[in-house]
Amino acid sequence: MGAADTALMMEILFLLLPLAFFSGWRSGRRPASRTRQQDDAAASQRFVRGINFLLNEEPDKALDVFIEAPVIDAQTAETFLALGNLFRNRGEVNRALRVHQNLVARPGLSQQQRQQAMLALGDDFFAAGMLDRAESVFSEILRNYPGNRQAREPLRQIYEQLQEWDKAIELVSSSGGERHTHQRLIAHYLCEQAEVLLVQNHLFRTDEKLRAALAIDPDSARVRLLQAQLALAREQRSQALQLLMDAVRREQRLLGSLQDKLLPVFDQPDEQSQLLDFVSHEYADSRDAQLFPALLQLARASGCEDEILPLIYQHLRTDPVTLQTLGHAGQFLLQQDPLDTRKALQELCAALERLNRTQPRYQCAGCGYKLSDYLWRCPACHRWDSIQLA
Ligand SMILES: [Zn+2]
Repeated sequence: MGAADTALMMEILFLLLPLAFFSGWRSGRRPASRTRQQDDAAASQRFVRGINFLLNEEPDKALDVFIEAPVIDAQTAETFLALGNLFRNRGEVNRALRVHQNLVARPGLSQQQRQQAMLALGDDFFAAGMLDRAESVFSEILRNYPGNRQAREPLRQIYEQLQEWDKAIELVSSSGGERHTHQRLIAHYLCEQAEVLLVQNHLFRTDEKLRAALAIDPDSARVRLLQAQLALAREQRSQALQLLMDAVRREQRLLGSLQDKLLPVFDQPDEQSQLLDFVSHEYADSRDAQLFPALLQLARASGCEDEILPLIYQHLRTDPVTLQTLGHAGQFLLQQDPLDTRKALQELCAALERLNRTQPRYQCAGCGYKLSDYLWRCPACHRWDSIQLA
């Protein structure tokens, strides 16, 4: 038995200690022949027996003894709850389940104790990966105690993992609280269903799901992207292109993940010039470095390198550059023929210099904290003389 187990024993001991002073260890119904003192004596004996098992590092036998406590009062119930949670947090889910199942089966719990015990039991099943069991526990809580909010979030996560989108939609729709968050969630669930339907080529039903999603979350870029894919499946290319651009307009980071997949699809000259026009306008507005690689790729694909050259020099001169965009710009310039090499190098060097000035020059050898000025002591980990050139 290692140090971790010994630490667990100590934690359990401290958790159980207060119980020795409470009534939970007394028998419930006392035969007429027995006195209060005899009950207390029996409870103390049981407690000592349990502690002995713990000290002998036999936690399961100790659990048996403690769980056998004939009566559970408020204090004992709380301790059992905490004991089970302690086991679960340490990854000992089976022991957690034993404690919480025993607790839930007790007849004398208050409404609040029963709800808490069932929530804990649901968490145990969830932690054990038994999603079906967890689902039925959390559903039962909601059936018996419709006002219980704590069961909703884990239940929603379970439905997501099981991809039970209809149930997830119903659950979120019936939850009070933040309307905007709920709408976004429901739109995502409908999109998940639409993606499956689209793969199965159920185009009409895909359309229905996407319309429903758009009605709930009119700003969703994901819905427009899926509508673009649906339009492609229906061979409505120009509509697909419009929808795709609409999606990127709402969520520019989409372009980075789309350029490899979708740009080859729209390979007609007029489509590519539309796209190039669109991306250069978006870039000119936002100066967002994420758009830059797609912009260069489009310019090259549609043979418009010369038109894009001013944008590239503007990028090097004034826009926020990254190592990635500098690399792309360098590659692009290399392939220009003819190229004013001196000018290209000057612009690249100026951009590099600008990028360099934004980088912290020093770094702590102890904790990795980066800073721009030299200090004798690291402000993060407080070590002396640990600052070095990065
Ligand atoms: Zn440090």
